[in-house]
Amino acid sequence: MNYNCAASTSSLYIHWPFCPYKCNFCPFVAIAGHDQFMQRYHNALIKEIQKFVDDCGEKQHLKTVFMGGGTPSTYPNDLLLDMYSILYKGFIIDAQAEISIEVNPGTVTQEKLEVWKSVGINRLSIGVQSLKDSVLQSLNRHQSAQDVEWLLKQASPLFDNISVDLILGLPEVSTDEWKELLARAVRWPVNHVSVYFLTVHENTPLYFKVQRNQVSLPPDDTIIDLYHWTVDWLGKHGILQYELSNFARPGYESKHNTAYWERVPYKGVGLGACSFDGMLRLQNEKNLMKYITEIEQKSHSPIISSEQLTSEQVHLEKLMLGLRRSKGVARAELLTGVKQKFWEQCNHKIDTLIENGFLKEKDSQLVLTPKGLILENEIVVQLSFD
Ligand code: SF4
Repeated sequence: MNYNCAASTSSLYIHWPFCPYKCNFCPFVAIAGHDQFMQRYHNALIKEIQKFVDDCGEKQHLKTVFMGGGTPSTYPNDLLLDMYSILYKGFIIDAQAEISIEVNPGTVTQEKLEVWKSVGINRLSIGVQSLKDSVLQSLNRHQSAQDVEWLLKQASPLFDNISVDLILGLPEVSTDEWKELLARAVRWPVNHVSVYFLTVHENTPLYFKVQRNQVSLPPDDTIIDLYHWTVDWLGKHGILQYELSNFARPGYESKHNTAYWERVPYKGVGLGACSFDGMLRLQNEKNLMKYITEIEQKSHSPIISSEQLTSEQVHLEKLMLGLRRSKGVARAELLTGVKQKFWEQCNHKIDTLIENGFLKEKDSQLVLTPKGLILENEIVVQLSFD
């Protein structure tokens, strides 16, 4: 089953998997040491985009473009210019479109910043994670606090919309060090902050270090306290929570992520990229050489999985995506299309969660309370189909 071009696609995701190193906590489709394939990969990406444009016939009207990775800030300038000339020819890109690139400090030059600006990129998402150099080294992340400061200083005159990613719960980061990081973050010229909980993914080098007790992670209680402190701290500085992990000054909420959360159709191109046409979720091949050779031979997206969502899966997605957002999810929307028996059960469970202070209902929207936010996963499980 293929992506349905009749879906009106307003968001495009472009995956660039190349990284200058592999961080030891990384679960993403990212590869280090394969830069010699950048040109061939770029050619494959262009072919995949061109095929999509041809299949759609009518030009799609894009409101967001997101270059993620991997480390898209390593995209060579000449290839990036080529990519954007193809995008502007193949799509109508809204004048107000949000065009983002993920950036790793230490991989940027002044020239790159100017090229990004010249092609219309208007939002940088900077992977800061931590400012403690010894922690970054232990994560095999080759960047420094100085790289971050240099990047922010050089980028801020060119880009008004800058986001930073931080990881809460890294080993060897004390409570005071986390608070110092956040104290600096609110002084930076940024309008958006993402705070992710460290997840130790199986089979990553960090996972094995934790298994062998070579690193110790902060206790859950400390992380929960710091999370609540962070929500308050950023809020006091005008950077308001709008999703479990995302905070923004008003008007700077990520349009691209909002499209995901609202389940609007988006097309993903590149290695391991996912797409959603309103009915189907599809994923591209995750092996670099297979991805490249398949496109070289056949042109179209090399899909490895395509799944038509059942009503149960749609309900689960609405729950998972809706409850993470500060605006919540409408009770009526959550219950649309579910069977009568489940409708009653679910309504009853929602009322119990409200009584117990995990959920609140505001203007018919169900919203997690601070106590509920921490238990988001468990609450989603409770409200799922049995
Ligand atoms: S830079 Fe990002 S994508 Fe690349 S290895 Fe590190 S965490 Fe993974």
